Amino acid sequence: MSSATLTGACPECETGLTVPPVVQGETLSCPECLLTLRVEDIADGRLTLEMVEVQLRDWGQ
Ligand SMILES: [Zn+2]
Repeated sequence: MSSATLTGACPECETGLTVPPVVQGETLSCPECLLTLRVEDIADGRLTLEMVEVQLRDWGQ
């Protein structure tokens, strides 16, 4: 059986997340701490999530 959702935990606040199927490299927002998380790996319906540093792009002034 394949499940319709994937689960993971926020690396920052450890909130459990259940999300619709995503692919590696997609980003999600943690509903608790609002960090942007990137899907690093997916194994057996579990996500490995990594915090993404959101930076304003500097156009090289
Ligand atoms: Zn979080």
